[in-house]
Amino acid sequence: YRIRQETEKGKRDFLTDVYDRKTARYMLERHLEKGGSGCCFFLDIDNFKNINDTKGHVAGDRALQYAASLLKQEVRHDDVVSRYGGDEFCIWLWELRDEFIVRGIAERLVQTFRDEAEFTISMGVSFFAKGDVYEEVIRRADRALYFAKENGRNQFALLPEDEKEAGQERTV
Ligand code: GH3
Ligand code: MG
Repeated sequence: YRIRQETEKGKRDFLTDVYDRKTARYMLERHLEKGGSGCCFFLDIDNFKNINDTKGHVAGDRALQYAASLLKQEVRHDDVVSRYGGDEFCIWLWELRDEFIVRGIAERLVQTFRDEAEFTISMGVSFFAKGDVYEEVIRRADRALYFAKENGRNQFALLPEDEKEAGQERTV
């Protein structure tokens, strides 16, 4: 909660009003320092260039704003939604590492876009815990995102290594 308060005035992305990448990084690093854990959703809008190309950049900007509002609506108030850049968003879900529950939330999020947006998203999921570093958390989630895109988009993916890690965390 204090981390949240400290960064409440943290920088926001001017277009979408979610946190910017630097502030999100700061929040994750403070969380990890304090021994916290959780998971990362790293997502990217599918075929976003088509929206820009067919409807124009103003419509593209509106789509980004709408995506940000759906994401904020779908996660807990204390979770952190940020814009990583372009059409990529990153979410920290604090203290969430039960793989079954995480899969449920990830699927619900992808479904929300199917139901409520004119575009879909692909998403990579990674877990983090004490000892992890920011770059590595992002790298793993980005790799999972790559698999979700390769597998046909409009879905999420979770790396097998992460499944193993999450399992180990649970047994500690
Ligand atoms: P993919 O499914 O592989 O993600 O396809 P894609 O078309 O979404 O490809 P990609 O994610 O690489 O495209 C991102 C595009 O987002 C490219 C860029 O022109 C556009 N973009 C980046 N920032 C903004 C912005 O602030 N506003 C608008 N309207 N477009 C942006
Ligand atoms: Mg995209």
